[in-house]
Amino acid sequence: MLWRISSFLLCQVAGGLGGWLLARERGAIAGLVAGGLVWLLLDLARGGRFVRWLRQGAESDPPVGVGLWGEAADRVRRALRARERSAEEATDRLQAFLAAIQASPNGVVLLDPDGRIEWSNQTAAHHLGIDPQRDLMQAIGNLLREPAFSAYNAQNDYSHDVVIPGRDTAPGRPLRLSVQLHPYGQGRKLLLSRDVTGVEQAETMRRDFVANVSHEIRTPLTVLGGFIETLQNLPLSPAEQTRYLALMAQQAGRMQTLVSDLLTLSRLEGSPPPGAGEWTPVAALLAQCEQDARALSAVLGKSSHEFAFDAPQAMEVAGAGPELLSAMSNLVSNAVRYTPVGGRIQVQWRPLSEGRAEFSVRDTGPGIAPEHLPRLTERFYRVDRSRSRETGGTGLGLAIVKHVVQRHGGELRIDSAPGAGSTFSLVFPASRVRTLRRSPGAADARPATATP
Ligand code: ADP
Repeated sequence: MLWRISSFLLCQVAGGLGGWLLARERGAIAGLVAGGLVWLLLDLARGGRFVRWLRQGAESDPPVGVGLWGEAADRVRRALRARERSAEEATDRLQAFLAAIQASPNGVVLLDPDGRIEWSNQTAAHHLGIDPQRDLMQAIGNLLREPAFSAYNAQNDYSHDVVIPGRDTAPGRPLRLSVQLHPYGQGRKLLLSRDVTGVEQAETMRRDFVANVSHEIRTPLTVLGGFIETLQNLPLSPAEQTRYLALMAQQAGRMQTLVSDLLTLSRLEGSPPPGAGEWTPVAALLAQCEQDARALSAVLGKSSHEFAFDAPQAMEVAGAGPELLSAMSNLVSNAVRYTPVGGRIQVQWRPLSEGRAEFSVRDTGPGIAPEHLPRLTERFYRVDRSRSRETGGTGLGLAIVKHVVQRHGGELRIDSAPGAGSTFSLVFPASRVRTLRRSPGAADARPATATP
């Protein structure tokens, strides 16, 4: 303001003085008027430059530096900078927010009041088979044509979700999606999609498991009930009674084995993996397996099985001894149960490369067709249902074996073909295997690394 007054006064003084020198009083008055006009023209020119600068977006340096116009330019520039900064901050916040939604494991789609896609994250694109760029502003109903979703989208009750097949669904790998719409704002909707394949599979498995257990228990229970009724209602001879009681004991035993296998499985699932501090001699495990196998062979009336047990004396395996014995013994008993009279069963422990070791059971039984192999470790999966039941099988043996070996860091391998017998092997990692080095004449043995 000071600059404005002083520049005006300067023009007046210069005009007045000039006029006075040229024509005394009259000249001074004319000079004052001329000075005022010059100041006004100069001021208008500066105002014009200021307005032009504003029209150009006020991005360059202001054309007027001092005075009222200069101050106005400075304030405009500061206000613009502040607005730019807050716009940048808002953009950064929006980007961070979108990046967070992008990282979400759930699919997120923002829909406008007409159901058109305004934004979607990559997970939603993958789930629903949409392209976040190409399908912008496309109606979701046109892109997602699953009938269940169309019906859901058409109604006005979005309090629950709808489960539909995912875009990547393949026959062997069905993808199931839970999709739910959440209204917000002025008629907009948020679509959330969640992969529920695992949850649905777990639920199916749980249902199947309960159905299988009920079925397995119901069969012997029905038989037992029948015998009890017979004993109650019919006058049986002592010999008949003894025979019936033996059959009843057999059915009760079957239920006991089933319950015991179920408890073993649940114990294996619910407890932490066994540590590697407890070492069990392999020879002792194989000796116990051999004893059980010969006893089972005798019970099944197949004493003519030919056995070959081959265990190195000095090897040890780390983990829970009883678990390892039950896994090994399960494989050996399967070989005995499924191999016909006269068959050969070969049980072996041998070192593998890199310090690993393998326990294998090879039999000359009927072998297993390739389509069954991937499913053998499923609970209650049986290839030969009647043979399994006849020989006291529960259908849980291989599921237990797989759990045990995995808890010990190893794996179960199955090699079998119809007519060519089967080989079931447990492969243990180097950390669970050691060879004891015996010094001649010494009673003690000390551990050494396993050598293939
Ligand atoms: P089960 O109690 O019925 O034997 P398992 O889980 O131990 O249950 O085995 C699953 C199925 O795998 C068996 O029902 C049987 O059909 C098949 N199987 C297992 N071991 C052998 C084997 N050595 N030879 C042929 N089939 C086998």
